[in-house]
This record gives sequence, structure tokens and C-alpha cells, in this order.
Amino acid sequence: MTTAEGTGVWAVLVAAGRGERFGVDRPKAFANLNGRPLLAESLERLEASGWVEALVVVAPEEWEEPSILLAEELGAGKVHAAVTGGATRADSVRAGLAEVPAETAVVVVHDAARPLLPEDVLERVVTALGEGWDGAVPALPLADTIKRGDGEAVVETVDRAGLYAAQTPQAFLADTLRRAVAGARDATDCAGFVEAAGGRVRLVEGDRRLLKVTTPADLELVETLLRAEG
Ligand code: C5P
Repeated sequence: MTTAEGTGVWAVLVAAGRGERFGVDRPKAFANLNGRPLLAESLERLEASGWVEALVVVAPEEWEEPSILLAEELGAGKVHAAVTGGATRADSVRAGLAEVPAETAVVVVHDAARPLLPEDVLERVVTALGEGWDGAVPALPLADTIKRGDGEAVVETVDRAGLYAAQTPQAFLADTLRRAVAGARDATDCAGFVEAAGGRVRLVEGDRRLLKVTTPADLELVETLLRAEG
């Protein structure tokens, strides 16, 4: 699991969200980031990664063809297919996994909504699997004080010790992830499925640049960070 070709690592890039909170006339993955679709940034980084052998793009309905054209424009030859996503993120992950060959050892799942994907985070999640874990999740300790609310009222202050914000890319033993997402339970990330199925998931250090684009202001922040990266 340490070389580019034949790593046995496939990536599933989920980009099928409608981005309703985002408020543009197209899916969020095709919002304009510095003159290119948002999707281009993570696609290019997975293509360039030494940890990823091949990838599947999970696109919004009717955006499969534009996704393939984008991959061709970027010269992203690792892109094996662009498949149609589902109603929930979990459905989209299932659709992507269906394209991953049965003999694949490791699957990395990444949100296209997190365009700034550092290579060292990919390294951390993939190498954790070589140390006996079923999955690995980049995460950052919570910095803010956490309140539980009920409408406008604060109910309690939650002890933030040991609490983390989970990001993607998340890496899993492929068979473990397949079995976990086949179950009926709901979870907002893939690790949630693996945890619920009794899998051991490791926390690795996340990265502030992996912020998820949810609002136009997030997109502006990502543009600024991109410029800073040069
Ligand atoms: O909606 P949210 O921001 O949590 O989505 C996280 C990632 O999952 C995004 O990249 C989005 O495109 C993807 N997603 C998907 N299919 C869905 C919902 C979300 O591929 N039905």
C-alpha cells in the first residue's frame, strides 16, 4: 500500500448533493471555484495522489456526462466511471462502491464539497489501515464551547473533551465498508456505518483546509486559501 500504481486503493468521490443550502442554479459540485467547477479541485488532487489507484465520481442525475468531460479535460485518467448518485449521501456511496472491483483492498471516500485535499491527509488515513484498523477518519478537536439547544433556549453545555469534528477523506477496508453500508442504519458519514457495525475506526489528524463548502461564504474562503497555496 505504499506505491501509486497497484496500491489497491480506490477512491469514491461523492458529488451528488443538490446543494440546496448553497442557492445556485446548479449542483454545488459544479459551482464556480476560481473559474472551474468545484469538483475539479478534488478530482485533480485524487488524480495526482500517490495513494490512489483509480476513482469513481458519483454525480448528480444528468451531470454524469459533464463529470466525465471534466475528467477528460483535466487529463484525469484514473477516473473509471461517473455514476448517478442517490437521495442521501449513503445512497451515493453505495452507488460508487458498486463500481469498485470486488478484489480492491481499500476504499477512500471523499466529499467533493471539500475541495482542498492535502496529500498528507490521504497518507494518514490510508497508512492507518496497515496498522490493523478497519477505518480511519481525519478529525479536528472542537475549539468552540458546545451547547445543546432546544429552540432558542440553551439546555446544557456539553463537555467538549474528547469531541472531534470529522472530515473526509475517510479510508476503509473495502469489504468492511461494503458490509457496513449494506445495513439499513443511517449515518452522516461512512465511519458512522462502520462504527455501528462494530468496526474499529482510528482518528487521525485532520486539516483546516478540508472545510466543507456549504455556503457561498465558504467558497470565498476556499478561493482565498487556494490563492495562498499558490
Ligand atoms: O450534503 P453534504 O454537504 O453533507 O454532502 C457532503 C458530500 O456528499 C458532498 O460532496 C455531496 O455532493 C455528497 N452527497 C452526495 N449525494 C447526496 C448528498 C450528498 O453525493 N444525496
